[in-house]
Amino acid sequence: MPKVAFVGAGNVGATAAVYLAETDLADIVLIDVVDGMAAGKALDMLAAGPLRGFTHAVEGTTDMDAVEGADLVLTTAGLARKPGMDRMDLLKKNAGIMRGIAERIKAKAPDAVVVNVANPLDVITEQILRTTGFPRERVIGMAGVLDSARFRAFLALELGVARTDVQAMVLGGHGDTMVPLLSGATVSGVPVTDLVPAEKLEAVVERTRKAGAEVVGLLKTGSAFVSPAASAVEMIVSILTGQERLVSACVRLEGEYGFRGITLGVPAVLGRGGLRRIVEVKLSDGERAALERSAEAVRSGIAALES
Ligand code: NAD
Repeated sequence: MPKVAFVGAGNVGATAAVYLAETDLADIVLIDVVDGMAAGKALDMLAAGPLRGFTHAVEGTTDMDAVEGADLVLTTAGLARKPGMDRMDLLKKNAGIMRGIAERIKAKAPDAVVVNVANPLDVITEQILRTTGFPRERVIGMAGVLDSARFRAFLALELGVARTDVQAMVLGGHGDTMVPLLSGATVSGVPVTDLVPAEKLEAVVERTRKAGAEVVGLLKTGSAFVSPAASAVEMIVSILTGQERLVSACVRLEGEYGFRGITLGVPAVLGRGGLRRIVEVKLSDGERAALERSAEAVRSGIAALES
């Protein structure tokens, strides 16, 4: 049975564990530094098993070495964004936390695929790549699936259609410079640009860019976790089962889209072993320029990490 370790059993980690448990695809271990938290949440989940129909092991611990033998590790450990805090404020604290975690993953689960959620997403993903020394196929950041889901949901609201019928993708870094692709957005194959006036679409793009902050502003403490957890599990399931889903994922680029040596959200096929391939789609001139700006923002984050 595959083993999935959740490092960080806070809002995103524990919710993702519940969603994954309901697929009954893997044994689950929750790991968190807070004494009893992961064990308590695992015990609670175990009792939901007879009701929700999952049978595999669910355990919780403070012992980071419990990543041992994991096929996949979801990293959410660190601090969540608070109102007034931008993702870069989190960089220092979360990078330090993640360095220690990545060292344990390297030692105890050297063959694992790591899906990272911790922010600032692109920079922490780069940190994990550097610390583990894993190939880029096995260190993937989650942001594009979430940003795309938000984009799809807001487009559906504007169009008055089912959210599930809207297909759209957001590329670039996970921040204000993200690049929602209007050119490829459709409702059941019909381009949204044929259905909605440009200024309304621009408002949807703006709302998508600020969706994380919109939730933080309402919650006051903590940030979104249901949709981030669902997004992470979509990636995990594709990797565990070899579904080969094409999603927007943060991966290190080695020449694709003209970038080298940075982690950035691009269309990627996820399957067994993690990243299967990167898909290069045609971008409009505006989208291309926006992706360059986004890459620049990620580059400065990585430079901050280095300093
Ligand atoms: P949270 O505070 O609820 O959970 C984080 C957990 O990490 C806490 O329980 C904390 O005790 C634990 N932790 C801290 N240091 C640890 C360590 N060394 N080992 C193990 N556990 C440790 O926060 P959350 O809402 O679950 O968010 C988690 C992270 O995900 C944050 O960085 C947040 O900004 C990020 N996030 C990213 C996205 C995205 O789209 N990429 C979306 C939402 C949240």
